[in-house]
Amino acid sequence: METKVYQWNPTGENGEAVAGAAAVLRSGGLVAIPTETVYGLGADGLNGAAVRRIFEAKGRPQDNPLILHVPDGTWLDRCCAAVPPLARLLAETFWPGPLTMILPRAACVPDETTGGLDTVGVRCPDHPITRAIITAADTPIAAPSANTSGRPSCTTAADVLEDMDGKIEAVVDGGSCIVGVESTILDLTAFPPRLLRPGGLPLEALEKVCGTIALDPAVTRLMQPGEQPKAPGMKYRHYAPKAPVTVVSGAPERSADYIRTHLSSGEGVICFEEFTPLFTGVSVQSLGLSTDKDEQARRVFDALRAFDGTQVAAIWAQCPDTAGLGLAVANRLKKAAGFHVIDAGGEEARP
Ligand code: AMP
Ligand code: MG
Repeated sequence: METKVYQWNPTGENGEAVAGAAAVLRSGGLVAIPTETVYGLGADGLNGAAVRRIFEAKGRPQDNPLILHVPDGTWLDRCCAAVPPLARLLAETFWPGPLTMILPRAACVPDETTGGLDTVGVRCPDHPITRAIITAADTPIAAPSANTSGRPSCTTAADVLEDMDGKIEAVVDGGSCIVGVESTILDLTAFPPRLLRPGGLPLEALEKVCGTIALDPAVTRLMQPGEQPKAPGMKYRHYAPKAPVTVVSGAPERSADYIRTHLSSGEGVICFEEFTPLFTGVSVQSLGLSTDKDEQARRVFDALRAFDGTQVAAIWAQCPDTAGLGLAVANRLKKAAGFHVIDAGGEEARP
């Protein structure tokens, strides 16, 4: 199949792209859509057959549920059997934005979307064309990240075409994603609310509204055989480039020095911008300054994807501390490394 590319026009008319993408979705097709986090691979979330095609295109395990994307908070009532006041408050405070809420599912949401769970993940993405497309399609859009399962997520339309060209009906090119890591997933069916996946909305911002939040163990460590994380997706190997990754945590000077002294020829490095001079002659991807976590979030998947075009035998990665967006960046790097992490020290341990 030929994959059509619709171009977003940020300053003018998008009527044709919106109508075209919405028509494909209404008829059960797949459209990759831009969001502020990463590109999503969308289908009509209430149409089980359409949703099954997402799993085929991505090679995604069937038990890994999808997030429903909605254009505003009023659609919570279309997707969920019960909407507690805290969910409404969070939607008012953080939507559109990188927060997914897990709530009891409405009867119209098929098993294909929820992976057979009695809950559903819902979020409102912060990209105008995507909200316009969902409104025009008049159905919540199920959309996981648009990468082939296991690969780093896509933050540009070109990344999407690398993985999905010929497998899906259309891509909407809405530019580079401004956040760069997936949404934060908060389970509101648990008490206290439970963080299932760190993401583009920092935990500290959620705590200001919700008070105490429990951390699912899958956020910080590898699941053991037989252990079931609350977000089924967290048990899978993820975000992995072709070469094996070793993450080095700790104070930035210490982790940079550790990598410099342990690096062999033919290996690649992901490091903070200020340490790139330590690695001249080495294949290096900069994550941005050690103090700039927004930039690290925007660059982390790009840095991981970039090595797939090279011959590096292994990748070393510096890792930020877990404050703010650091929790999400560190989680993506550690998952890419299969939680192969070395602590170079010099930093206070955080939970
Ligand atoms: P992705 O769209 O690639 O970011 O993956 C969606 C993530 O949301 C996966 O980790 C899923 O396991 C998680 N998720 C979606 N729906 C639910 C749900 N009802 N309960 C728990 N986790 C969910
Ligand atoms: Mg994904």
